[in-house]
Amino acid sequence: MTNLIDIKGVTHAYQTPNGPLPVLDNLNVSVPEGEFAAVVGPSGCGKSTLTRLVAGLMKPDQGEVWLHGKLVKSPRKTVGMAFQNPVMLEWRTILQNVMLPLEIVAPGMPKKQRVERAMELLDLVGLTGFENKRPSELSGGMRQRASLCRAIVHKPDVLIMDEPFGALDAFTREDLWQTMHELRAKEPFTAVLITHDLRESVYLGDQVIVLSGRPATTQYVLDVHYPGEGLRKLEGLYTPEC
Ligand code: ADP
Ligand code: MG
Repeated sequence: MTNLIDIKGVTHAYQTPNGPLPVLDNLNVSVPEGEFAAVVGPSGCGKSTLTRLVAGLMKPDQGEVWLHGKLVKSPRKTVGMAFQNPVMLEWRTILQNVMLPLEIVAPGMPKKQRVERAMELLDLVGLTGFENKRPSELSGGMRQRASLCRAIVHKPDVLIMDEPFGALDAFTREDLWQTMHELRAKEPFTAVLITHDLRESVYLGDQVIVLSGRPATTQYVLDVHYPGEGLRKLEGLYTPEC
């Protein structure tokens, strides 16, 4: 099987006024096309750094990041991103926010098609009827749904989510897990999900990558077949500090 994402021996340090801060050490991650990789690890162990490397926003000191058979050297339009606090253009409607990536990536696409594509996704996540609202009129869970639509509207090769549901209450979060499964069933995509929540990692991930150590490395990769069994294994492995 071909991997959509291949992270090979990635080592990275930030240059700080106090000297280099090693963050990642010989990280290896492979994600086959269509699969979800969940990445768990304590705060400060380099999870967000990993997302920046995959998106091409930074280059690793050593090692390589491959996306769809190409070496990543610069920022990629083929990567969609979703964050804990989605940044929306408040003066635009939800529909206009969701269409934004299409305006950038596919400027020649007729407006009718852009609207249709955005509405299709809004429908999938249960936001039909909210398309003409402003972001501030929506709840946190709804904004996150809209931001997921925006992140995949242009069919990126990979969706990177950095603790996307971290700020939501437990009910809303679990609702969104269900929505993610429904989205995937209708529109397969490859994703890297960064999370603090072990339950979320086994529920949404096909594999769970555990990062730990300082600098962090790939400590363990769990193939998730049964979330319950996976969760018990992870709970035994997880350390609260890098
Ligand atoms: P996580 O997302 O797992 O919490 P990060 O990747 O954000 O971890 O950060 C890993 C380490 O690198 C932390 O110690 C953080 O303080 C440091 N760090 C992150 N970004 C920078 C930066 N731009 N410059 C210097 N240090 C950074
Ligand atoms: Mg982070």
